[in-house]
Amino acid sequence: MSNVSDMWVLQQTDLAVEAIRRRLKELEHQRGETPALKAAREAYRAANAELVHWRTTRRDLEIQARELSAKIEAADRDLMSGRVRNPKELEGMNANVASMKKRLSAIEDQVLDAMVQNDQWQVDSDARKSELDAAEADWQAMQAANAAEVTAKLADLKRLASQMNQQWASLSPEDQQLYRDLRSRKGGRALAEERNGTCQACGISLPTGIVQSVRNDEVHSFCPSCGRLLHAG
Ligand SMILES: [Zn+2]
Repeated sequence: MSNVSDMWVLQQTDLAVEAIRRRLKELEHQRGETPALKAAREAYRAANAELVHWRTTRRDLEIQARELSAKIEAADRDLMSGRVRNPKELEGMNANVASMKKRLSAIEDQVLDAMVQNDQWQVDSDARKSELDAAEADWQAMQAANAAEVTAKLADLKRLASQMNQQWASLSPEDQQLYRDLRSRKGGRALAEERNGTCQACGISLPTGIVQSVRNDEVHSFCPSCGRLLHAG
């Protein structure tokens, strides 16, 4: 039979290995894009879509205004040329010019509005872009730290696994079986520490007889409450 302290040492290694495996899983989960980065990208995309919309709207309206101005100038020239003398026809031409001028004035108002929108969305889009750049830089730094930690943890894991193999091999087959059984039934902790007469796993006060027998490293003493193998603290 092996000593209880050998099993205790094995459990310490075992728990350290489990902790590393848990941490590696966490690190794996953190490897995708963060909600903050996704939100920053979406905010920029939305602001930029507005900017493009207003820039296009402004350009279209400016073209319309230019074309209409050219038409008005041509109609004005035609009126002044004296080509048409018929009063009815002149009246019609004047009405047409007046109507085009009214439309032009409405389009110019829209151009002004589009310019204001364009400028506002330019500012907004620039701000969102800066935020996105910062979020991306944060994320890159996080990914680099993540990768570095994974490398370090894998090295620890390799070291501890070989340590655990040696510790495992030093146990008697009966103790290996006992450890395996208790570990699977007791939530990964086969052994509990006895300190000041108390089981540190479940918290009960242990009977005096047990507290005394725990001192003997070669004797298996079990907690009567949680059933774990006791190790003197
Ligand atoms: Zn206990």
